[in-house]
Amino acid sequence: APTSRPFPFDNSYARLPRNFFARQAPSSAAEPWLIKLNEPLADDLGLDVEALKRDGAAIFSGNLVPEGADPLAMAYAGHQFGSFVPQLGDGRAILLGEVIDKHGKRRDIQLKGAGATPFSRRGDGRAALGPVLREYIVSEAMHALGVPATRALAAVSTGQPVYREQILPGAVFTRVAASHIRVGTFQFFAARGDTEGVRALADYVIDRHYPELKDGANPYIALFEAIAERQAALIARWLHVGFIHGVMNTDNMTVSGETIDFGPCAFMDAYDPGTVFSSIDQNGRYAYASQPGIGQWNLARLGETLLPLINADQEKAVETANVVIKDYGERFQLHWMRGMREKIGLADVEDDDLSLIQSLLSTMQAGQADFTLTFRRLSHLAVDDGAEHAFLKTFSDGTAAAEWLARWRERLARETTTGTERGVAMLGVNPAVIPRNHRIEQAIVAAVEDADFSLFEALLDVLAKPYEERAQFAAYMEPPKPEEQVLQTFC
Ligand code: AMP
Ligand code: MG
Ligand code: MG
Repeated sequence: APTSRPFPFDNSYARLPRNFFARQAPSSAAEPWLIKLNEPLADDLGLDVEALKRDGAAIFSGNLVPEGADPLAMAYAGHQFGSFVPQLGDGRAILLGEVIDKHGKRRDIQLKGAGATPFSRRGDGRAALGPVLREYIVSEAMHALGVPATRALAAVSTGQPVYREQILPGAVFTRVAASHIRVGTFQFFAARGDTEGVRALADYVIDRHYPELKDGANPYIALFEAIAERQAALIARWLHVGFIHGVMNTDNMTVSGETIDFGPCAFMDAYDPGTVFSSIDQNGRYAYASQPGIGQWNLARLGETLLPLINADQEKAVETANVVIKDYGERFQLHWMRGMREKIGLADVEDDDLSLIQSLLSTMQAGQADFTLTFRRLSHLAVDDGAEHAFLKTFSDGTAAAEWLARWRERLARETTTGTERGVAMLGVNPAVIPRNHRIEQAIVAAVEDADFSLFEALLDVLAKPYEERAQFAAYMEPPKPEEQVLQTFC
């Protein structure tokens, strides 16, 4: 029986038509232990932090359903690696409910790994400790980097094994999202020819995420445009920090514009646009530089579901939707350029800036330069000429990099900002630390093999302030040594 009320729940999704979800209570865990509670986030959400410290193991494992929760698994469909699956749904996630945070924003509280649901198919509804820690670390790091992302509220170990290729310790991850509505949620209703379902969902999304569109002439085309804008902005941010999502299936793309579902995701070390880490991405569909194009493909799948709402005349609807899909390319390019200009310290706009940026990127690729360090060291160079040697050393061959520097300085000479202003701005957009793969791997191995969470905690500390260079964290800035390199990630 529920005995705890740390969440002021207000559950709007549970009030939608009954085919939107399946009510499902979490399963219990044998011996739950609270690995981590994100206290600042809990506080920001308006939760009772003391109650969560006391009852967190029981609540975040699914053993104790907090008062006011209305647990459910959401229905959705999706294109997985290009193939449509009409029914996926939350197979191992359970939405406890929603709260209104301190800023008046509605946020979902969801358990991931708390047992099977009607959408589990052959899955066990469980999560292994390693992926839970990876999602915790990477989603919090993304947030600190300024990239929209779901948040980590808690991680618990269940004390129960999960059976994958090996037997692994089980865990439950508690995720906080603006919502968990995906492109695939729209596809679920469209695939059933349920136009009223699509409309109810679209109206809900407008109310929840885009209320300013409600009273326009055609709110549904406006919704499509607004989602295109947020996804273009989001994917540009991924590229700016070297992030590779890994599984950009339509069921892993939110309509809120937050990064969701941190599975085999990873950050690049050496710059290579073709980088793929995910063990399940055999053909490199979701490689680093393919992400903007995939975003557009996914958007087109969303557009298809909205056609009946956009115009009663389907030919006209297709025409209108196609404009949005085409414009996405320009939207992305604008966001990407704005960020890349900032990364190399340009405040003014010149025609040749794209060529200057592309030339740096190809020099980085040829010189196997670390993506993060290149831009961080360039930021130092903006204020201190003595930093040139360190910058050039980032490249296997400094000659091409030196030539690029000369071109960059020539361009900077025409800037209206001072070197100091430029340096400060660049240090604020080019992170010193990112969640490097080998660091995540080390933290996971220590936790899984020795129940040692000190590396996990240390990594979280470092990544909370990614734009600050702190002497005691210098080692976290380093790329992996050859023997530390992680070539594949698993979900
Ligand atoms: P993902 O690859 O995490 O985006 O998941 C794709 C689909 O598989 C979703 O419908 C998940 O709910 C489902 N799924 C993934 N892992 C499991 C699991 N262990 N048990 C049940 N369903 C799962
Ligand atoms: Mg998913
Ligand atoms: Mg996943």
